[in-house]
Amino acid sequence: MARILSGTELAQRMREEMKTELADLKRMHNVVPALAVILIGDDPGSVSYVKGKEKACAEVGIAVRKHKFDADYPEKDLLVLIRDLNNDAGVNGILVQLPVPDHINEEKVLYAIDPEKDVDGFHPMNIGRLMIGAPGYVPGTPHGIQQLLVRNGIELSGQHVVIVGRSNIVGKPLALLLVQKKKDANATVTLCHTGTKNMGEITRLADILVVAAGRPHTVSADMVKQGAVVIDVGVNRIEDATKKSGFRLIGDVDFEPVSARASAISPVPGGVGPMTITMLLHNVIKAARKQRGIAQ
Ligand code: NAP
Repeated sequence: MARILSGTELAQRMREEMKTELADLKRMHNVVPALAVILIGDDPGSVSYVKGKEKACAEVGIAVRKHKFDADYPEKDLLVLIRDLNNDAGVNGILVQLPVPDHINEEKVLYAIDPEKDVDGFHPMNIGRLMIGAPGYVPGTPHGIQQLLVRNGIELSGQHVVIVGRSNIVGKPLALLLVQKKKDANATVTLCHTGTKNMGEITRLADILVVAAGRPHTVSADMVKQGAVVIDVGVNRIEDATKKSGFRLIGDVDFEPVSARASAISPVPGGVGPMTITMLLHNVIKAARKQRGIAQ
């Protein structure tokens, strides 16, 4: 059976390291990094994600300034708020919880955030930096996947990484991150999507297979090479009458049969999810250091 790549355990270890770093920052520089979180509307998923981020920030010692608005909050007011937060030296990072309601142009909002405070790494400036291998803010999910692999001793250099999914927040930035001629990267990367023909032929070539399709059963055991490492990014709600909530979470990969073929696999939940939030914390600390001129 495959080794389980626990994001929960690694995230906890990394957060312990961050606690120490933040205690030092406070003691030596009187700096407490601050993250502004903007939540519009009451989509249950978004509310729960924001709660998770607030909790994680509190746990390590990052201050959160939450700005919560009704679903009809006007776009122009949001843009003014972002401008004010960009100019507020007491705020190191700005996060707008996505998706925003339909009347708000997501692109306009993301472009309005100062790239130096863009701790989600979604601003085109940071995506561009990622593409050319320049320092910037890397989006949390791809960065978390890279850390989950590297800190579990899984070599990336020279490996064939196949990614299923080409979204701007997972598949594409992960490909950009892992293809760099750098330490903890230098992989050969293939991206698959709904236009890919005979996907199984490609996924079976993967030394490391990352699945971010958002659909249960996207990858079955026959699509995985014996001994491959499998990272399941998908989070899908499945009805389950035995649960109090009425549902449970599963990934995009058929976990049991794929575990029997893979050498290592990340679970859902408890795999990539906790790593994503941890790398957000990492970006907030990095932003605070950078803005205060304190060496990383
Ligand atoms: P997305 O924007 O919907 O993108 C999904 C991608 O997968 C698209 O590129 C799509 O192809 C491709 N795809 C879908 N079904 C496919 C199939 N059957 N075969 C091949 N490709 C397929 O989703 P996302 O935002 O990247 O998220 C993906 C999943 O990861 C979701 O379940 C999401 O909840 C989860 N997620 C988890 C975390 C975490 O921290 N754990 C973070 C982010 C996302 P096309 O481009 O051709 O449509």
